[in-house]
Amino acid sequence: MKNLVKPNILKVKKYVPGKPVEEVERELGLKNVVKLASNENCFGPSPLAVAAIRKALRGINRYPDSSSFYLKKKLAASLGLAEDGLVFGNGSDEIICMAIKAFVSDGDEVVIAKPTFLIYEIASSLQNADIKIVPMTQDFKYDLKEMKKAITPRTKMVFIANPDNPTGTYVTKKELDEFLQGLPEKLIIFLDEAYFEFASYSFKDYPNGMDYLASRPGMILARTFSKVYGLAGLRIGYAIANPEAISYMERVREPFNINILAQVGALAALDDKAFLKKTLAHVETEREYLYSAFRKMGLEYVRSATNFMIVNVGRDCKEVFSALLKEGFIVRDMKAWGLDTFIRVTVGTKPENRRFITALKKVLK
Ligand code: PMP
Repeated sequence: MKNLVKPNILKVKKYVPGKPVEEVERELGLKNVVKLASNENCFGPSPLAVAAIRKALRGINRYPDSSSFYLKKKLAASLGLAEDGLVFGNGSDEIICMAIKAFVSDGDEVVIAKPTFLIYEIASSLQNADIKIVPMTQDFKYDLKEMKKAITPRTKMVFIANPDNPTGTYVTKKELDEFLQGLPEKLIIFLDEAYFEFASYSFKDYPNGMDYLASRPGMILARTFSKVYGLAGLRIGYAIANPEAISYMERVREPFNINILAQVGALAALDDKAFLKKTLAHVETEREYLYSAFRKMGLEYVRSATNFMIVNVGRDCKEVFSALLKEGFIVRDMKAWGLDTFIRVTVGTKPENRRFITALKKVLK
């Protein structure tokens, strides 16, 4: 088969997701395992989304509406946009892939930070792009000066996760303004705002990517219903961009990529202001609880603008990951990102976070 597969596929590293609860319970014979590994909403899904999905179940013999008509109308209105400025994806994962498929050709350069969301590199290598990696600064922030220097006439796309995953740090408005100044027009800036709601809730100097769309036609924003709305399992995210860019992404979109339940669930979730507020306030408070617990344990951590954070456990992260599994907690070891002594932990419910700290103390003793 090796002689049949496209050569660039041989170089692609497969994405390894966070372990599912059922798998850990099955393999280790545990009960009540808590997953703090994939930056999901600890309160479950938006209750309004669940109610709407229940009602829609009887209609799943039909294909979904390819245009996501009602959802697009409502989301566009809530964002103050025209409807042709939006396209939906099977998660914002698919938005990343669609943007690359539409805009990056074989051999084009893309600029990606490290550590950041792994899909940028995977999807770019599927496209046989020439990938330039720019390490973050010592304090885990985007090194935008170095990223700017890495841009050449062959560069087609630059990826900025704002805030970043796994570090949780964000690029400020001033930093983004400076970075964008003087950049060539012929460049796609892919601004991944998967954690937009968390960052804009807590930080005044966090920029809204939408403010840049008018002046930068080549900017594509990605957002998602997976995080603050609690709908990761439904798989729905979206891009915001100028209508021409959206029209090209529409050409590579599979016609029925957004299933019926995702469309009605996301539509209802947009109305669930109470759930949103509860989630955002909780995450802000509990981040502080976790920071303070890490400080008391003498552990270095990185302040985050999201619902997760990385913490330096001072020893091999895979060992700590395995030991925490036995205690019933799934976290993410940061080996795949080259941070060998770090784990990433998602903010859980209040009791989960306290039990997690007890487990971590036991494991590190
Ligand atoms: N971008 C970033 C920065 C993420 O952390 C994630 C999820 N881990 C995604 C995109 C993809 O999320 P989804 O496909 O669920 O929308």
